[in-house]
Amino acid sequence: MKPAGILKRLVRLSHELGREDRHLAILGEGNVSADLGDGTFYVKASGSQLATIDAGGFTRVNLSPVFGALDQPDKTDDEVRKILESCRVDKKGKLPSVETFLHAICLKEGGAHWVGHTHPVSMLKILCSKLGAEPFRRHVFPDAIVVCGRHLAVVPYVDPGIRLAVALRKSLREFMDEYGVAPKVILMVNHGPVILGQTERDVLNTLLMLDKWASVLAGNYAVGEPQFLEERNSDRIENRPDEHYRRRVIGRLK
Ligand SMILES: [Zn+2]
Repeated sequence: MKPAGILKRLVRLSHELGREDRHLAILGEGNVSADLGDGTFYVKASGSQLATIDAGGFTRVNLSPVFGALDQPDKTDDEVRKILESCRVDKKGKLPSVETFLHAICLKEGGAHWVGHTHPVSMLKILCSKLGAEPFRRHVFPDAIVVCGRHLAVVPYVDPGIRLAVALRKSLREFMDEYGVAPKVILMVNHGPVILGQTERDVLNTLLMLDKWASVLAGNYAVGEPQFLEERNSDRIENRPDEHYRRRVIGRLK
């Protein structure tokens, strides 16, 4: 697909994620990106709002300088700004989001083509509690496994920017070493989820399912304790051929 087509779909995805009634992101929260397959990607510009963004709210950036910056994460705010300025394909383009580093890792190392990150109210009720990401390590209903993957990666709270991206890369690599595949979801404690999607629909579906999952968990804790599925039943869902089919069909919706 041509860059203009991808940009159009990024705008549509942003509007879906920024919808006020969904409570996934407000004001300038959240960001999305898409790989262009030529060593560059589009990412939300700093200060743009998902709900109201248009094509001018995105910046096309080069992957390699963004990725290169991760080797020396101890940078001042001024140095980070210089990297974000210099990585732009069009030097007159807007400054990319400070989370550009995190997007670069998901696109380059995580095998994602579309990445979405928001701050859903439902998820923060749990991720900002003493329980952190722990309740998401097991399951309470099967669809969360089908849509979000059997296991999620977790990153402890780190200051947003390069340091957070480096922590996320560590978590991503550990996950890939353990499970042999990239995660679909990375949970950042006290912050929010990152979705590693293959299509823009994949990103939206996964966030909607995470939102539902978190609401169900919060309800479970409100009335007592969640009744977690047995691990063998969760494994079974992950490996059932009809669930593989369902996953493909859901991902295909456009
Ligand atoms: Zn964020």
